Amino acid sequence: MLNRNPRQRVFLCDIWYSKIAMEEELINIKNTALSFILEAQDRKSLEETKLQFLGRSGKLTLALKQLPKLPIEKRAAVGELANEIKRTIEEALAEKLSQVTSDSTTKRKESIDRTVPTVEPRIGHIHPISQVLSQTIEIFKSLGFQVADGPEIESDHYNFEVLNIPKYHPSRDTQQTLFLDSTGTSYSPGEMLLRTQTSNMQGRIMEKTKPPFRVLVPGKVFRYEQVDASHGFEFWQVEGFMVDKNVSMSHLFGTLDYFFKQFFGQSTKVKFVCHNFPFVEPGVEAYISCVVCRGKGCSFCKRTGWVEILGAGMIHPNVLKAVGINPNEWSGFAFGTGLSRMATLKFEMDDLRLLTTPDLRILEQF
Ligand SMILES: [Zn+2]
Repeated sequence: MLNRNPRQRVFLCDIWYSKIAMEEELINIKNTALSFILEAQDRKSLEETKLQFLGRSGKLTLALKQLPKLPIEKRAAVGELANEIKRTIEEALAEKLSQVTSDSTTKRKESIDRTVPTVEPRIGHIHPISQVLSQTIEIFKSLGFQVADGPEIESDHYNFEVLNIPKYHPSRDTQQTLFLDSTGTSYSPGEMLLRTQTSNMQGRIMEKTKPPFRVLVPGKVFRYEQVDASHGFEFWQVEGFMVDKNVSMSHLFGTLDYFFKQFFGQSTKVKFVCHNFPFVEPGVEAYISCVVCRGKGCSFCKRTGWVEILGAGMIHPNVLKAVGINPNEWSGFAFGTGLSRMATLKFEMDDLRLLTTPDLRILEQF
C-alpha cells in the first residue's frame, strides 16, 4: 500500500535512490579499476591500483562500509554485487601481474642473457702481400724513393728491347712470356704481352724523367709457369732504380743492406754474388741469411743458411742510352725482387700458393 506520509515517502525514495546510487557507484569503481589495471605496465602500478581500490581505505572497501545503511532486504543483492566486483578486480590484478612479470623476465633475459648465441661480425685483415708491400714502400720512401705504377699489358719494346734484351736473346727463355692474341688489332703478332717483370717501367719512366731520380715500382707480373709451391703464373714484384751522378755499387749494397735489415730485422746478413742479367753491368744476386734457421742451415734453405732474394746491378749503359740518358754523365743501379717471395719468407710460409688462396682460415692468421 502506498504510504502517503511525505516524510515516509521521502525516506523510502531516499533508500531506493541509495541502492541505485550504490550499485552505480560499485560498477563505476569496477570499470575504473579495470581500466587502471589494463593500463598498468609494471608490478608497482598494479600494487598502487590494488591499494587504491581494495586497500583498507580503498574505494571498494569504503563503498562496502555503506552496506549496513541499506535496508536489510537490499543488502544481500548489493553485497553479492560488491563481492563479485571485488573478485573481478582481484582476478584482473592477478592476471595482469603474471603478464607484466613474464614480460619483465623476458626483457631482463633479452638484455642480460649472454649465453644466447650471437653472430660475430667478421673483422677484415690486411693481406700478407699488402702488408709486405706497404712496409717496403715505407722503407724506400724514407730513402727518398718515389712510388710509380704502370701497365700490366705491355709491349715487347718496354718489357724486353729497352732493357737490352733483343729478340732471340737467350735470357728471354728464363721469362716464359704470355703473349696476347693480336688477331683483329693493329699490333703485330708477339708485340703485346703480359709484363714478365716490373722492370718494364724503367724505360717508361727514364725516357720521360730527367735524372737525378729514385723510383720504386711495385706491381703484378705474369709468366707461363707450371704452378707449384715456389712458382706461380702471376706474382708480385717490386722494381727499384736510382740514377744520379757517381752512383756506384756501394750505393746499391748500402741501400739493399739497409732495406733487408729494416724489413727482416737487424740481425739479417746480406751477401751478393756475381750474376749476369742483360740489363745491368755488373750484375749481382742478393742472398739473405735464412729467416727460419738464422743461417745455421735447415730444409728451407737447403742446408746452405742462405736464401736468394733478388737480382740487381748497375744499370747497363745500353739501357741508359736507349732512353736518352748519357751513361758518361749519369749512372744508376736497379734491383728487382719478388714481393710474393718476400711475403713467404717474412711469414715463414712454405707454399707460395697460400698467398692467392681465398681460404679465410689461412688469411685470417696474418
Ligand atoms: Zn734455413
